[in-house]
Amino acid sequence: MSTDYYKILNVDKGASAEEIKKSFRKQAVKLHPDKNPGDKTAEEGFKKLTEAYETLSDPEKRSFYDVHGAAPSPGQRQHRPQPEDFMSSFFGGNPFFRDMFNQGNASSVNADIEVTLSLTLEEVFKGCNKDITYEQLQPCGICRQTGSSRGEMPVTCKQCNGSGRVIHTVKSFMNQVSISTCNACRGTGRFVEYACRNCSGAGVKSVKNTLKVSVPAGINAGMRMQLSARGNHGLQGTAPGNLHILINTVPHDIFTYSNGVLYMKLNITYPVAVFGGLRHIDVFGDVFTYQLPRGTDHEFKIQINGRGMPNPQNGQRGLLVLKTNITIEKPQDLSSEQQELIEKLQQLFEQKR
Ligand SMILES: [Zn+2]
Ligand SMILES: [Zn+2]
Repeated sequence: MSTDYYKILNVDKGASAEEIKKSFRKQAVKLHPDKNPGDKTAEEGFKKLTEAYETLSDPEKRSFYDVHGAAPSPGQRQHRPQPEDFMSSFFGGNPFFRDMFNQGNASSVNADIEVTLSLTLEEVFKGCNKDITYEQLQPCGICRQTGSSRGEMPVTCKQCNGSGRVIHTVKSFMNQVSISTCNACRGTGRFVEYACRNCSGAGVKSVKNTLKVSVPAGINAGMRMQLSARGNHGLQGTAPGNLHILINTVPHDIFTYSNGVLYMKLNITYPVAVFGGLRHIDVFGDVFTYQLPRGTDHEFKIQINGRGMPNPQNGQRGLLVLKTNITIEKPQDLSSEQQELIEKLQQLFEQKR
């Protein structure tokens, strides 16, 4: 008597491949040996379920089963994703499996490109135009992205079902799998009979591309600019992905820029700290004066609105924070007159005590 695979998988005879997969997934979670250690009934159930899925998920085997009531004998097995492999993806194994089963073929992989652009804070303050050079997959000029020397459209690779990878299963109850790039399509997931020589059948070629990019003033480290359709062109003539430009800033001696606030270190001498004084502040060419109060402490913070970085959205200048830094001169850097005066000052301080 033959086993009813449909009943095991809890689906109708006319169930679609998707329904079968869904139902298998659901039951496999319950019955997987990792979840039921030592449970013989669950283990047996899982084996039967796997066997049923292996047959019904393969259109050829399924039609054979529908006619003969049994799975075909393992004569001409192809490299296809087997249920065991599927399980390893399902239980948090290799993320590659997840991609493969959930997203389909390789043609959608890596369409977006990310490049990092380093800017000085002066460039951030003023905005700038920059050349960005990056590797981009562009349509092959000879075959117009078909990958074929004769112009015919590619078909899904039969060897790997369009995944671009082949999974080899080493037989044991638990999964032992290895993955390799599909030989037939060289990982593209598609296949053309007469491959274009210029692109070796890929339909796209890696080209060094240079773009002029206008960077708005005020954009800060960690922000991204997106240029649509400047990413990689797809392998099957699909639309290109996007180019993401990640902004990075070069450290500056006296300025830092964080959370929309521009901080500036303001060096002052001891006498200025004591008596206050008018200081010239230079923010990347924007020069203005600021009156320091008498008795200014070290690392005292002064907030000035409208003198900071421009907002990248509307160009309005934000907050500038001056942070005082009282500088101490080395004796050898002082003139003899300065030395004398400071020595005198020291004596007076000593007397006071
Ligand atoms: Zn070509
Ligand atoms: Zn292939």
